[in-house]
Amino acid sequence: MRLWIRNPLAILAEDAEGGVVVDGTRLVECVPLGGGPSAAVDDVFDASEHVVLPGLVNLHHHFFQTLTRACPPALDKPLFPWLESLYPVWAGLRPDDLALAARVALVELLRSGCTTVSDHHYLFPAGLEEAIDIEAEAVRELGMRAVLTRGSMSLSVDDGGLPPRSVVQTEEAIMADSERLLSRYHERGEGAMLGIALAPCSPFSVTAELMRESAALARREGALLHTHLAETEDETAWCLEHTGRRPVDYLEELGWLGEDVWVAHGIHFDDEEIERLGRAGVGVSHCPSSNMVLASGHCRTLELEAAGSPVGLGVDGSASNDASNLIGEARQALLLQRLHYGADRVGHREALRWATQGGACCLGRTDIGRIAPGLQADLALFRLDEPRFAGAGDPLAALLLCGAQQADRVMIAGSWRLIDGEVPGLDLPALLAAQKTAARALLARAGAGA
Ligand code: ZN
Repeated sequence: MRLWIRNPLAILAEDAEGGVVVDGTRLVECVPLGGGPSAAVDDVFDASEHVVLPGLVNLHHHFFQTLTRACPPALDKPLFPWLESLYPVWAGLRPDDLALAARVALVELLRSGCTTVSDHHYLFPAGLEEAIDIEAEAVRELGMRAVLTRGSMSLSVDDGGLPPRSVVQTEEAIMADSERLLSRYHERGEGAMLGIALAPCSPFSVTAELMRESAALARREGALLHTHLAETEDETAWCLEHTGRRPVDYLEELGWLGEDVWVAHGIHFDDEEIERLGRAGVGVSHCPSSNMVLASGHCRTLELEAAGSPVGLGVDGSASNDASNLIGEARQALLLQRLHYGADRVGHREALRWATQGGACCLGRTDIGRIAPGLQADLALFRLDEPRFAGAGDPLAALLLCGAQQADRVMIAGSWRLIDGEVPGLDLPALLAAQKTAARALLARAGAGA
């Protein structure tokens, strides 16, 4: 089945003004301006009203947090007090809650043009041991591409960590589940739809031993590593006090500096640390909204990229964004980075690159993130027919400057997963109603009612 997506209003690709041809799960041809496909096609989609992007890649999220958006006990706090106010609420998370939260997060991402999503799930209270299996089912139902990271926390307040004892696991349980998930779900190579990565939550929530064992297992299995790093000054102080090292030194000592690692936030690095991270090829998920909401600081994206680190975007969990809108996040990245570096150094092309190719690179993927022959057919199509776009000149710039929120069509591995802004077959009002009920019950169980 060959489909020609014909004559787009604009497209983020070289020599493809006439559109692209999709065959099966792949892009097979870019059509130059005024041209046509080199061979017969079975179907044509008129894209003359659409701006076409490579499918967006989300590098960092916590799906379960869609249940605690704008959560009263956590409002207006920086990271550590924010976490301490939310852990008791999250401790009540049950399997049905996570199933609903994951679906809401994924649908929101899909509607915003996202085709590949990574989630960092680190919360495994008793009864929720199969959290990653629940997420895998939600991802497959929606036909999205994903890297689900098996998070972990083993240091509770009793051991000098932050989380309560009820949400941490033993290191034996964490490693056994990591092995199980890798053997059950982890796909490798071109076109992989579902991958597993190992992701101790942060240096302040696990032991050095667990960091080392996770790295060894991931490398044996050809999987990636992920963690939160250098998000706040509090984290640097914690690392200095408990390990005698700054976060990057500590990570290096644990064998975690490599191109199979991407970290979330990556804010509080000095110049020498940026050079070291870049030489090692460590990827960074920039999370601009979360960094602004928690006032964590500014990620030095341009220095990181110049040093050799791939940079992509993450919406981060919905308790600190509080949205899961990736095209919206690209606008946030544009504005925040421009404020820091100047209007002539960060434009819409940089922000769109982070949201696509940069993210793919952090995930070690060369088969997604761009529009070119041979790559996977992951595409996001936006219409510019809302009032916010009226009078816009450059269609690609308009997506971010006018603030696009919603894709019209999304294709993943050659299949339309969003049509006319809707997920085919999904009863969205019913999903939202069920998730809202679950969110209220979760707060009520913790005695933190809205
Ligand atoms: Zn996070």
